Amino acid sequence: MFWWRERIEPSGAEYGVEWAITDRRGGSSQEPFDELNLARHVGDLDEAVTTNRHRLAHELGLRLADLRFMDQVHGCDVAVTPGTGEAEPTEDAVPPSVDGLISGRTDEALVVMVADCVPVLLVDRVEGFVAAVHAGRPGMVSGVVPATLARMRELGARDLEALVGPSVCGRCYEVPADMRDAAAAVEPVSAAVTWTGTPAIDLASGVVEQLVREGVSVRWLPGCTKEDPDLYSYRRDGQTGRFVGVVRLLERERVA
Ligand SMILES: [Zn+2]
Repeated sequence: MFWWRERIEPSGAEYGVEWAITDRRGGSSQEPFDELNLARHVGDLDEAVTTNRHRLAHELGLRLADLRFMDQVHGCDVAVTPGTGEAEPTEDAVPPSVDGLISGRTDEALVVMVADCVPVLLVDRVEGFVAAVHAGRPGMVSGVVPATLARMRELGARDLEALVGPSVCGRCYEVPADMRDAAAAVEPVSAAVTWTGTPAIDLASGVVEQLVREGVSVRWLPGCTKEDPDLYSYRRDGQTGRFVGVVRLLERERVA
């Protein structure tokens, strides 16, 4: 179920956080989506995805309806979940077509689906905000991570920590030279070379650079989706499932 998981308990006036990266084990999807595919848009059976999402929610002590997914579109738009800040509460359950999602609530978890793109999870444990971001190549180039940070700061976030999950690594993400150059024009650190010496992009390095530049403290989990059989990789398998990064704010203790 989980490739990585951490729970930081609330402490005094600080909120806690639970954040995790799933793997592909322990679900009910059949080949080529086996086993724990959490995405509906990839061609898997809807019932299998629902069962898998139920399992994830249960593991987090939540209901399926408390998981907030995005309709990810490789853009740089950001949404705030209903009931956070100025956003009015609504019963609307349609996922927003964005690649960054922010919450100030402790009764829901934000989910980003990936299979080579970079999953970024954010928390401000002082002001009480979390975010999930989907950063593929277009997202890294167009700046979906800085856009999400800017929106969080507008809402009042100040002290941000980031978790950067596994993605396709710079040695494995082969691209045409002009595509590498376009990415490097935005984030020079993303220019990479494959195992065989051809042009490549190191997406996660570019994303980490964007976080560090914005003063965010970063934890970057080692791992490459294409090289790790426990993770889904579009580059390796083509038709396949999606694993997720998930983050939930934990209510702080009452302060007088
Ligand atoms: Zn790799």
